[in-house]
Amino acid sequence: MERTQPEISVVIPVYNEEKHIVNSLRKIEEEIRSLVSSYEMIVIDDGSRDGTWEQLTVAARRSSSFSALKLSRNFGKELALCAGLEHARGRAVIIMDSDLQHPPALLPEMIRMWREEGKEVVECVKENRGKEPIDKAMGSALFYSLLNRLSGFDLQGASDFKLLDQRVVQAWREMPERNTFFRGMTAWLGFDRAQISFEVPERTDGKSQWSFLGLLKLAVNAIVAFSSIPLRFVSLFGLIFFIGAVLLGVQTLYLKLTGSAVTGFTTVILLLLIVGSVIMISLGIIGEYIASIYNEVKGRPRYLVSRRLESQAASTAERQ
Ligand code: UDP
Ligand code: MG
Repeated sequence: MERTQPEISVVIPVYNEEKHIVNSLRKIEEEIRSLVSSYEMIVIDDGSRDGTWEQLTVAARRSSSFSALKLSRNFGKELALCAGLEHARGRAVIIMDSDLQHPPALLPEMIRMWREEGKEVVECVKENRGKEPIDKAMGSALFYSLLNRLSGFDLQGASDFKLLDQRVVQAWREMPERNTFFRGMTAWLGFDRAQISFEVPERTDGKSQWSFLGLLKLAVNAIVAFSSIPLRFVSLFGLIFFIGAVLLGVQTLYLKLTGSAVTGFTTVILLLLIVGSVIMISLGIIGEYIASIYNEVKGRPRYLVSRRLESQAASTAERQ
């Protein structure tokens, strides 16, 4: 049975947030209910290992337009967002975190810009980065300036808190890659955009789920997906070393011919070390691209859904 299209879909990825998820969802839903006549909440449980799914069944009992998907394992926030976007049917889709670090108080302005000004993408930009540890803040500043230089997309301060018109979501669905970077992909799509800046409040409870390695992986994936300039660096390394080789070659031959060769042990060792490490770095860069091509070519599903939960009016049904 085809259901009527809601005005707004709210997509929320969740991972191990049992303590506060019901409360957060209630706050978000209260806000959205006061703004639009019809909406749907789509919560993606990204393979939580605590009681998050049980809490979602509680939330589904309270709400009339709620659905939840449980991914078969932890696929990461990026893929949880994919799952949400692929299932969202609203005329506009709002993507937000479950820890209230994306304040529901911004929803009225986001929806107004979409409804009244016809903006197709409304993105919330972080004014400060909340109480983030200094290493994370510095790492992220470095990453965004590198990404900007390499890809031309300025994502400094960008967050995943966005409203996308269904047209943009349709266009997004046409992007076939498995290695998704939501912020970059929405920037790539273009469309009529507006920005709202906001202060990131503290997390409701618990800790950020990102580990250093997780963030590093995201950064490398994003750069590989949005720029091929690192590959050109490999050629550049080659060129620089070729010029060095010609110069040193001429000097070595000259010394040989004039009979004053032999010395130069330090130079040989240094050259060996430098050339060796540049080759390793270059292989590493090429390897990242090959790994990414391999991942795309395998063509595996981006994520797997193991459970679904739906509340329609008063009835709550759980399907395996
Ligand atoms: N999240 C997720 N899968 C993960 C990690 C996080 O779905 O593997 C969700 C998490 O529940 C939250 C959002 O992504 O709703 C943002 O995560 P977090 O607050 O840990 O990140 P930060 O605010 O530090 O960017
Ligand atoms: Mg957070």
